Amino acid sequence: MSVRIAVVGSGPSGLYTVAGLLASKVPMSVDVIDRLPTPFGLVRYGVAPDHAKMKIVSKVLSKPFVRDDVRYLGNVEVGRDVSHAELVERYDAVVYACGSEHDRRLGIPGEDLPGVLGAGEFVRWYNGHPDVADVEHTLDVDSAVVVGAGNVALDVARVLSRTAEELRDTDVPTRVWGILRDSAIRDVHVLIRRGPAEAKFTPAELFQLSELADADVEVHDGGAGIPHPESVKDKRTRQNLETFQMLASTPSQGRRRRLHLRFLTSPLEIVGASRVEGVAVERNDVVDGRLVGTGERTVLPTGMVVTAVGFRGSPVEGLPFDDGTGTVPHEAGRVISDGVPLTGVYVAGWLKRGPTGVIGTNRPDGGETAASVLADLADRPRTERDDLLELLATRSVHVTDWAGWLRLEEHEGERGATSGRGRVKVHDLPTMLHYTGGGSRGR
Ligand code: NAP
Repeated sequence: MSVRIAVVGSGPSGLYTVAGLLASKVPMSVDVIDRLPTPFGLVRYGVAPDHAKMKIVSKVLSKPFVRDDVRYLGNVEVGRDVSHAELVERYDAVVYACGSEHDRRLGIPGEDLPGVLGAGEFVRWYNGHPDVADVEHTLDVDSAVVVGAGNVALDVARVLSRTAEELRDTDVPTRVWGILRDSAIRDVHVLIRRGPAEAKFTPAELFQLSELADADVEVHDGGAGIPHPESVKDKRTRQNLETFQMLASTPSQGRRRRLHLRFLTSPLEIVGASRVEGVAVERNDVVDGRLVGTGERTVLPTGMVVTAVGFRGSPVEGLPFDDGTGTVPHEAGRVISDGVPLTGVYVAGWLKRGPTGVIGTNRPDGGETAASVLADLADRPRTERDDLLELLATRSVHVTDWAGWLRLEEHEGERGATSGRGRVKVHDLPTMLHYTGGGSRGR
């Protein structure tokens, strides 16, 4: 009898785990469960639309689905359509790889004013996530502030600084492309609370700022205070410092937009009567490696604030949760409850290690979880188990499959071809379900 394994989440962490499992040649059937009819998680809905090359990884992630013993069960939400306990009954192992969906908050006054949004929400919007298909961001203000010094802050600042032509060949939904094309934003300020040597940007992503077609990059203070790159041992930091120096020494060319990198600047408060009108910021100093406010305060006028200060996982029903880290306690992917492993329950990806790392980080991470699953299963007796699809059928859940996804993908390609763009995403759930064969979501 082959083992039955469920992987919840079809993003890179889930699908690299599947690849790790299949590499073992142990007879198994794997069900990949996702609440959406579309696979790939962050590759489809997180990676910036102008990073098309990064999305090519979806071809690698698709490979398991050529096999008859690997099924995609889309449009199925664990916790709503099926419970954790019901999964554990039906599978020898259940791997949760469902990410960190929530934006971390800044925790400053004014954060809930209209016009302030978390990067996760904004990224999902421009990437055509169905959860935010109805949300309108008009971009009718002349400046935006992005808080954070990680790659997500860079993604947001870059997308806001791109021209319509630069975005034409991306897969952003038609409506989103129109809004970005008509954007009134001329200044994008990135607030970096520490200095240039501490920014978490990766060098390749930072360098891309020098390649924007119609935006000047202005480095705060004209680049004064950027440490000499040769004074730094770490290669990544050295490369970043070289890029900051290059950006600082490039004269402004009077381009349509300006992207400002403001070091040693922390937001104190978001101000505005009924919506955001500005961000009160304080200048920082670094003393003995510690960040210290100087008391020098100013208000940066803006009509839009995007906070890109990291993400947090949320608890999964039936699993322990560490509220401090926003992750599920584990040892090599085995979920640990009250100091002991929960039989047959595992985690992978951001839910396991926190919201860090690039797409490729999930390969060894998923491999580690897969190795734990396989090692445990080697010692466990096999039991006859019911098929999850039978239970879902009794609940009239319209499960979508891999063939359905391929139909939607083909339709997205055709939409792109007819509109003179590349592939164009469908972002509303009813149309997604129409093409994937999931029927109506209501039951
Ligand atoms: P991140 O790399 O952890 O960056 C979060 C940033 O927020 C840090 O710079 C942090 O500053 C700052 N921050 C936190 N609290 C703050 C506060 N109260 N005030 C001001 N700033 C604050 O997280 P991320 O950008 O969300 O990215 C998540 C992961 O995805 C990262 O590993 C990233 O590299 C990866 N990613 C990769 C790509 C890519 O490869 N192209 C694209 C997107 C994301 P401090 O540094 O001072 O703590």
